[in-house]
Amino acid sequence: MSIDLHVHSNASDGTLSPAAVVEAARAAGVTALALTDHDTMDGVSEAMAAAEALGLELVPGVELNTDRTWGEVHILGYFIPPDASGFYELLARRREARVRRGEKMVQRLQELGLRISFDDVLRIANGGAITRPHVARALVEAGCVASIEEAFARYLYTGGPAYVPREPFSAFDAVRAILDAGGVPVLAHPGRMSEEGKKLIPELIEHGLQGLECYYPEHTPEDTEHFLALAAKYDLVVTGGTDAHGPGSTHDRRIGSVSAPPGAVEALRERQARLARGRR
Ligand code: AMP
Ligand code: MN
Ligand code: MN
Ligand code: MN
Repeated sequence: MSIDLHVHSNASDGTLSPAAVVEAARAAGVTALALTDHDTMDGVSEAMAAAEALGLELVPGVELNTDRTWGEVHILGYFIPPDASGFYELLARRREARVRRGEKMVQRLQELGLRISFDDVLRIANGGAITRPHVARALVEAGCVASIEEAFARYLYTGGPAYVPREPFSAFDAVRAILDAGGVPVLAHPGRMSEEGKKLIPELIEHGLQGLECYYPEHTPEDTEHFLALAAKYDLVVTGGTDAHGPGSTHDRRIGSVSAPPGAVEALRERQARLARGRR
């Protein structure tokens, strides 16, 4: 039995449909699952229906990636209510910005002499939020590179020749937006952040961060210990998840192979209720 609170579907850069993600979770013995696509919650209703049919708990979620000069900070948002229209408008604006960014990245690649088109990227994304892995898959399809990894290593890595930054948006903005929407903001994979990034954590907490993703595939046992202690010190919800992106992705982790602690979902719900009381 396992609780996986960080999974992607083809509503963003995952390779499985939301329903297929839920089926894979069920097959892996996952009892509670959060769908946390990049800048979209469009997969949530399909996942919710599948979860209901299969008898697992589905937590609505989202992942907002923000950039700093020294690296990225990713904020997960849980239990955003379906009527938080301002938040959904923010997500829609971010997805529109992703379309423009995708076009620019393709243009850079074309200028480098690579024969791909933005239409290929759109077809591969199939209505989902446009991300670098979609551009990478288009490069593989066109025979420009042998693998998604190679596409990132040669062209798409952050700062790379075809890289275009995302629209500016700070981690504090992300925490604030999730709080304002009535959701629960959690710091994703803190162990992946640079030392400079880790120093930002107390400031994020001052801005209303509510949880830490202590359990994550790339975390060392020392990372996990460290972040568990930090969560205890600051009264943060401890979460965990695999960040699985599905078969054929560069993050093809088995759903449920890392688990949040028992009671994590209840702790997130409790936190959401506490925040709502604080606003009244
Ligand atoms: P984007 O938000 O469009 O910049 O795309 C970011 C996504 O690309 C991440 O969520 C990962 O799934 C994937 N990604 C980022 N860096 C790499 C990399 N070096 N190799 C493979 N996938 C990556
Ligand atoms: Mn991703
Ligand atoms: Mn992330
Ligand atoms: Mn993720």
